[in-house]
Amino acid sequence: MKIDHFPGDVRGRLVPRPAGRMVYECLSCGKHHGIENLLYTCPDCGGVLLLIDLSFDRLKDTPPEAWHRIFDHRKMLNLPAIKGIYRYQELLGPVVPVESMVWLGEGHTPMVEAAPDLQKKAGVRFLYKNDGQNPSASFKDRGMASALSYIKHLLDQGYAEEILAVCASTGDTSASAALYASYLYPRVKSAVLLPKGKVTPAQLSQPLGSGAAVFEIPGVFDDCMKVVEALAENYNVALLNSKNAWRILGQESYSFEIAQDLDWDCKNLAVFVPIGNAGNITAVMSGFLKLFRLGIIRDLPKIVGVQSHHADPVYRYYLEPDEQKRVFAPVTVQPSTAQAAMIGNPVSMPRVIRVVRDYNELSGNKNVFVVQVTEQDIMDSMLTANRRGHIACTQGGECLAGLLAAVGQGIVTPEETAILDATAHALKFSGFQEMYFENRFPPEFGVIPKPELINRPQEAGPGDGAAVPAAGAPLSGEEFEVFVEKTSQEIARILDLAPLR
Ligand SMILES: *Cc1c(COP(=O)(O)O)cnc(C)c1O
Ligand SMILES: [Zn+2]
Repeated sequence: MKIDHFPGDVRGRLVPRPAGRMVYECLSCGKHHGIENLLYTCPDCGGVLLLIDLSFDRLKDTPPEAWHRIFDHRKMLNLPAIKGIYRYQELLGPVVPVESMVWLGEGHTPMVEAAPDLQKKAGVRFLYKNDGQNPSASFKDRGMASALSYIKHLLDQGYAEEILAVCASTGDTSASAALYASYLYPRVKSAVLLPKGKVTPAQLSQPLGSGAAVFEIPGVFDDCMKVVEALAENYNVALLNSKNAWRILGQESYSFEIAQDLDWDCKNLAVFVPIGNAGNITAVMSGFLKLFRLGIIRDLPKIVGVQSHHADPVYRYYLEPDEQKRVFAPVTVQPSTAQAAMIGNPVSMPRVIRVVRDYNELSGNKNVFVVQVTEQDIMDSMLTANRRGHIACTQGGECLAGLLAAVGQGIVTPEETAILDATAHALKFSGFQEMYFENRFPPEFGVIPKPELINRPQEAGPGDGAAVPAAGAPLSGEEFEVFVEKTSQEIARILDLAPLR
């Protein structure tokens, strides 16, 4: 819709303008640092940073109903810059001007009602939010759009001639980083570090296809991360890992979208998030907190983090009910099909601890939970969901397994509605499906295929002696007719089809 066709009260607010006073806040020493330089850790104490808007309270001058009208009308405005995460610019990057916003089609992923058969099985209403429908096929694009938009903003202001962006990744971060960086080529170039043999062929092909410099490093993700940190400490590079607070900020859009798609009514809602480095769950909670503080939503949804028993440091941390006694201890990870969440020492743990405390406090009760599921549950749940019209990755399977566990433990009740994060597209993790169908899981995963979930291609042909076509050697005439007739009869026999009368 053209801008002069909008109602007068929202017309002037549709195109966001730069505003706000954003700073990095250190979660260890509490100090603030200016955003004119790219920081990943506190220069004073090395602590983890969050981005905050010191003038956030100015947003309270706009009443909740007015915010609803602004965001709802923005849906109809054909301005590419705000078709993604920056529909909510005031909440997640008020300093970023429209000219610097990078939009490659990310955000506003569909929330799909789970198939009736699945809902019956779960005993509770639930929907999948398909974040695999982002451009690089994972939710990482939300944070990357935010980080690269800010980098573009710095470059546009003359901060540097060019920037080399680097990240370590279990796969999806590098795919996303390489995609967004390549869009800004030649001012931005990218290098990604991957744990050798620990990412799927699809995840390796993405950064290669985007033209990034790709390095395979011995070890697991946590080892790659240390190398990247050493690069960031000693060389002039922009770090795109979840240490980068701009990424966390962009991922808050996930919560804004859920709220908006539910017409800003978050009562009796439970949001399920798989936890790896814990950036995503931090962002999801922070997003809902912002909406709540501005009155844009009246209820804070329940948050349920899910971890595999093979990589569960956050789950273990919250097992201790007494906050004073909790001690964080990294774990040594075991192989996990939720490979993107296979992290023993989450970078964002200090953020989680802080935000969970705020979240429970503002909720007025314990409103954040972490459940643990097995590798078997993860695979069975992913395959079950996808056999009913969904496109969940293994982490999406982990969320469904988490929902079943949470319902079993009474954390989620039948009056509630759950939103499960399918964090990536099923295709990215098809290798695990193949291992399941072919019963090829190495024993350390502990996954035994269930016969009813296995699906294999069957061969069907015209039978012994009949001619068959081949590439470059087609059949013709009677031979071809025999081939078609016999093969179709064979398929009809296998499927037990009734003939037409
Ligand atoms: C990164 C990732 C996760 C884990 O998110 P964190 O922010 O690291 O907790 C889960 N699923 C997929 C598909 C991912 O790419
Ligand atoms: Zn500090």
